[in-house]
Amino acid sequence: MTAITTSVFELFKIGPGPSSSHTIGPMKAGYNFNKSIENIQLSTKPTSIEIRLYGSLSATGKGHGTDRAVIAGLLGFKPDNVECDFIDGLADGKDRQFKSGEITLPLSIKNVVYAEIKNDFPYSNTMLIRLKDGENILFEQEYYSIGGGFIKWKGEIPTLTRAPAYKYSNMEELKALLIENDMRLHQIILENEMAITDSTEQEIMDKLDDILDVMKKAVNKGLATEGLLPGTIGLHRKAKDLITSTPKGYKDPSNFLIRLNAYAFAASEENAAGHIVVTAPTSGSAGVIPAVIYAMEEDADMTREKVREGMLAAAAVGFIAKHNASIAGAEVGCQGEVGVASSMAAALITYAAGFKFWRTENAAETALEHHLGMTCDPVGGYVQIPCIERNAMGAVKAYNAFLIATVENIKFHKVTLDEAVKAMAETGKDMSSKYKETSEGGLAVSVPDC
Ligand code: SF4
Repeated sequence: MTAITTSVFELFKIGPGPSSSHTIGPMKAGYNFNKSIENIQLSTKPTSIEIRLYGSLSATGKGHGTDRAVIAGLLGFKPDNVECDFIDGLADGKDRQFKSGEITLPLSIKNVVYAEIKNDFPYSNTMLIRLKDGENILFEQEYYSIGGGFIKWKGEIPTLTRAPAYKYSNMEELKALLIENDMRLHQIILENEMAITDSTEQEIMDKLDDILDVMKKAVNKGLATEGLLPGTIGLHRKAKDLITSTPKGYKDPSNFLIRLNAYAFAASEENAAGHIVVTAPTSGSAGVIPAVIYAMEEDADMTREKVREGMLAAAAVGFIAKHNASIAGAEVGCQGEVGVASSMAAALITYAAGFKFWRTENAAETALEHHLGMTCDPVGGYVQIPCIERNAMGAVKAYNAFLIATVENIKFHKVTLDEAVKAMAETGKDMSSKYKETSEGGLAVSVPDC
């Protein structure tokens, strides 16, 4: 098994909602296409661009805003520099000007084709972006959106990544490194991040603060906003109602739980509205970790230093899940999104609260174990039902996993995180494509047409 070389900031990325695989990934693919054809030599001048979406990108791309995201990318925008209003404006279907090198072409969401859901591409969520002259295809690039905003493409030459300081591919190997080097978990993740990205500790801490600030901003914005979310469901936001009905107080368990729910609703509602969130590890699950961070800092007075350490511990869990299974709803269902987010959040709280690595792993395992088998069935193809409430449940389960892990006798904890991740991968393989972000099964079918 190859060593994990993913950066903390590939996992935690700032970008517009509502779905990292359907919004951030396609936008990155569009941007990559624009840049890759800057110096292209073609036999004849192209007259149009065609974007073909496959898999769940086709099934739920409209509700997820994939068409606008890929067009924004083709127009030269990246997830971290695009304005949400600009993306929303693309829904008018009017032509904008695509420009790359010498090529200029009209481009709008009408250039997007919703192709086959079932397909034989190496990854179900595939995009073909083509330059055409009439019906002739002059140039084509095949992109895969593999979850969490990560993309690959056919013929991609892997960029040389710098070697991590400590090589591990799963929790067992990470534990061995901790013992062998007598280090704490966040130190290993920090040193690896410094090695992989050639950054200083201060640069990494500053970037972590940026991420934490955007997470909290999303919660604040969600708590202050009411009204309907976009789309045909007619779903009302709930976060503001929840927070205004609940007095602040960490000591009262009911108040604390309602507030924790409210924070998760708030960030998830911002994501559903297509506003700026942080993938954690995906946009669909972008409410879980911000909820626990907000509660830790605002209700429990946790220091920023401890929260940063917790974020690095959470990243380790996310890396292991991504490396050995998947964090994409289109690959393994919602267990890979909200399940992994809850597992990361449980690790974050436990580690930030000062508990040792063993209890941190147990908390992460418990949270993941109790999301195993969870399907992805967004109603109407929108990241709203069940997604928003599911983030709240994920945050509460993370807190509960923390409580159990910090009082249980660790000798009696039977399941390892690696075993839970393996079970998630196997369950995902066996799961019908109806439950992998296609809106062809589950609640997406049983809830009357929205
Ligand atoms: S059900 Fe889960 S995996 Fe599917 S879109 Fe919603 S949050 Fe993402």
